[in-house]
Formats: sequence, C-alpha cells, structure tokens
Amino acid sequence: MTEILLPDAGSPKSRQRVADQKLPVAVIGSGFSGTIAAIQLARRLPADQPILLCERGVGFSLGVAYSTPVAGHLLNVRAANMSAFAADPGHFEAWLAEAADPAAIEAHRTDAGVFASRATYGRYLKSILYDAVCADERPSQLRLLPDEIVDCRRSGAGFELISAGGRRYPAAAIVLATGHVPPAPSPDPRYVTNPWRPEAIEGLDRRSPVLVLGTGLTMVDIALSLRQKGFKGPIIAMSRRGALAQAHRPSSPWALPDFTATERGSVRLLMRRLRAEVRAAQAQGVDWRAVVDSIRPITAALWRDWPDAERRRFLRHARRWWDIHRHRMAPPNAAAIDAMLADGSLQLLAGRITGIGFEADTVRVAYQSPSGGEKELEVQRVIAATGLESAGRTRDTLMERLLEEGLVRLDPLGFGIEVAETLEVVGEDGQPVPNFWALGPIVRGMFWECIAVPDIRQQAEQLARRAVSALTQPG
Ligand SMILES: Cc1cc2nc3c(=O)[nH]c(=O)nc-3n(C[C@H](O)[C@H](O)[C@H](O)COP(=O)(O)OP(=O)(O)OC[C@H]3O[C@@H](n4cnc5c(N)ncnc54)[C@H](O)[C@@H]3O)c2cc1C
Repeated sequence: MTEILLPDAGSPKSRQRVADQKLPVAVIGSGFSGTIAAIQLARRLPADQPILLCERGVGFSLGVAYSTPVAGHLLNVRAANMSAFAADPGHFEAWLAEAADPAAIEAHRTDAGVFASRATYGRYLKSILYDAVCADERPSQLRLLPDEIVDCRRSGAGFELISAGGRRYPAAAIVLATGHVPPAPSPDPRYVTNPWRPEAIEGLDRRSPVLVLGTGLTMVDIALSLRQKGFKGPIIAMSRRGALAQAHRPSSPWALPDFTATERGSVRLLMRRLRAEVRAAQAQGVDWRAVVDSIRPITAALWRDWPDAERRRFLRHARRWWDIHRHRMAPPNAAAIDAMLADGSLQLLAGRITGIGFEADTVRVAYQSPSGGEKELEVQRVIAATGLESAGRTRDTLMERLLEEGLVRLDPLGFGIEVAETLEVVGEDGQPVPNFWALGPIVRGMFWECIAVPDIRQQAEQLARRAVSALTQPG
C-alpha cells in the first residue's frame, strides 16, 4: 500500500490509500505540463493503471508561471485561448463564469479579450487536478507524490525513480515534465539570476535604482511587482535595443500566407515575406498582430525542418523581433507600464553590458550604448530577466543523472532534451527510449513554440494517446 497526501489537505477525500497493482506511469513535475499530461493519461488509460504525479515544489499544478501571488500579474494569452483542454476550448472561460468563489477571481475585460491573473489560472488548474483525483468515490488511479525525483534508471522492462529522501519508486513508464530549468545561483546576492523567486525583489532600498536586464514580459512582471511593493526608486530596464514587449490589441484574422518551399527553408526570406504580409495586411486595415498570429500553426514545423545553421540564424537575427511581437502584454499591464514610463519610475535603455563590479555599497554596471560610447550605471541590484535558461548551461541533479545514464541527450542547441516528433525521449544512442516521453519547455529545442498553454495542451493529448497504445497494446 502506498499513502499519498493531496496538497490541499482537509477533505476526507484528500487522503488516499491505493492498492498497487500495476507499476505506475510516473509523471515528473507538476507544473502545467505534468498536471495536464497526468489528467489526460487518467482520462485514457484503463482504471487499474496507476499514475504517479511527482512534484518537488510547494504545490501541485502551479509551476513557475501560476504560483505568483501578485495581483496584476496577468496571463499574456486571452482567456479564450487558455483552456487546459484542446478538445474543449471554452473550458477556462466557462470555469471563470461559474467560479464557486467569484471574489477570488481576477479577470479584466478589454477590447482585445478577457485577461485573467496568473493566480486565478493557478486556481483553475488546482480545481481541475482536484476533480481528477477526487471526483469518484472509489480511489483514483492518479496519485500525488510531493517529493523531488533525483535519479531515474532503467530497471527490467521499466524504470526506477529515486527521490531526494532516498525512497525508490518502480515505474512502467516515465513522462518528463520538469519545465523551466532554474538558473544557476549567482555568487553575489546583488545579481539575481532567478527573477521568479520572491527574494528577487526583497530587501531593497525603496529609493535607489535597480537594473533589470531584459525588456520583455519578465521585466514587466518585475516592474509591476516592485510598484506594488511601493518601490519608488527608478527601475532601469536594459536590452540591446531597449524595445518593449508589444501589447495585445483587437485584430481581425489573417490567413496563413502560402509560403514557398524556399521561403520556409530560409529565415531571411521568411522574415522578408512576413514584412510584405504585414504591409499588405495594413493596407487592408488589418493589424500586424494578425499576421504574426497567422503563422502560429506552422511555427513548430518550420523550426523542426530548419537545419541547425538556420535555427542559429533565427536566434541571432530574428529572435528578438519575434519575441516582442509574438509574446504580448495584456492591455491592463501595458497601460500600467506606459504610466510608469510616463512618470519616469521605469526607464528603458538600449545597451550591451560590458562589465559588472560589486563594491561595498553599490553595483557598477558598464555598458556600451548603440552609438558605441562606453557608459556606466550605479545601482543597488541587477535582476536578470533575459528569458528561459538552457538545460545545457545549468546543473540540475535529475538532468545530470539522466544524461549520465544515457536515458536522455541534449538537443543540438542545448536548450533542453531531444525528443522525436512523437515526444518519445531520444537516448544517448540516438534511439527513442521506449515508454519514456517528455513535453513542455524542456523540449523547446525541438519545437521552439511549445512553451505556452495552447501548445502544451496539444502535446499532452498527443502524448497520452501514444502512452495508451504503448501500454495497452503489447508489442
Ligand atoms: C512567468 C511566466 C508567465 C507565463 N505566462 C503564460 C501565459 O500567460 N500563458 C501561457 O500560455 N503560457 C505562459 N507561460 C508559459 C509557461 O511555460 C507554460 O504556460 C507552462 O506553465 C509551463 O509549465 P511546465 O509544467 O512545463 O513548467 P514549470 O512551470 O517550470 O513546472 C515544472 C514543475 O516541475 C517540477 N520539477 C522539476 N524538476 C523536478 C524533479 N526532479 N522532481 C519533482 N518535481 C520537479 C518543478 O518544481 C515545477 O513545479 C509563462 C511562463 C512564465 C515563466
């Protein structure tokens, strides 16, 4: 017998005892990716197939994105596109409309759609997980394990997981959903590498400047959190071009352009064609956002088809433009940021850091401005907000063990791990490892656009279908 506690303890249903019959499918990580993958597996696998959802953090289902308690940290995707289930696109909107506790819901109706807070979305995910675990009177096949998995090995025809406390869990199959790779800690606390930890903005002098590296959505989060905490000193946000993430606006749809094979294969030609499409759209009174959104259905395929050299070209020349146009701010956040820019509490700066010196009472930051001049800033803290960390650059215990065991290998650019189009993990010998799948940001090196809910929910369904045929149709 295995005893697992549901994190929101209290209800008698939240304490489960489940007899182990078959070896479980173990899902490692319970952010959005792991949670939805586990629910999809539970919907499709036979009722006697246990599923074990493992999470090392403070709560299940939230992950990095939806654990923020800050009101005003809004989703950067419209509620209409945030259903956890691709087959039921209105699910999140219906949940918002029928929420049991409307006072706990934060959702802003704008002319570009409804934007809920990330904390509200976290409640939604918790409620879906609760329903999946507790809906029936009989014990659920989905069990929650609040523990860190630090090792995973092959064992017989399956696997064995080892937790931080040294407990061993046999498993028939693995789903790796470890998500965003935490950045390596910095040797000086005045240089913050993980902007999503609460201490990133704790203990600041309220009036002396803070430098944020990056001018995208993470910077927006930091600026709004600092403002809410009553921070008065200037927030200086720096990136190569000093270009702010764009905001959502209402726009009518634009058809997917009929790219030629040559355009699809070349970042340069693709960008040229996109600019031409934007001009054509604007001539018809259609906003550029519609053109950017039109290619979303094929972005993963474009990325997969490009050779490494073309992917690197995209990262060098087009990524910054793509990021600020594709990942957009909710209109209320854009209005708050505009107000901060207008009153000077937020300043945007274009520049490239050339050196950082930590002195007893200040941090000196040297940078090169676009005109070529060397300049210097004095700030109390530097917060890195430059995007997701790459698995190839940090030291995560489980990832290191998986690499040592040869169960995974890094993708060619080192963003995460390599998977086949079917989401089967590719081992060090270049072959898919049977009954081992991965999804979400950890596989972004293979698909690029697979880090947001609309993409991950599709991966979860696809993965669950694969798992069903692998586990229920021997051979
Ligand atoms: C700040 C922020 C805001 C975002 N906003 C949006 C948005 O508005 N809309 C949208 O569509 N997308 C948004 N995203 C994109 C986001 O990537 C996805 O929506 C989704 O949350 C990714 O979830 P995940 O589970 O893959 O990763 P994560 O959220 O990183 O979750 C991974 C989980 O795995 C756990 N874990 C890791 N290793 C282990 C281990 N060894 N053992 C046990 N547990 C482990 C971690 O503790 C964590 O809880 C946002 C991302 C960020 C960072």
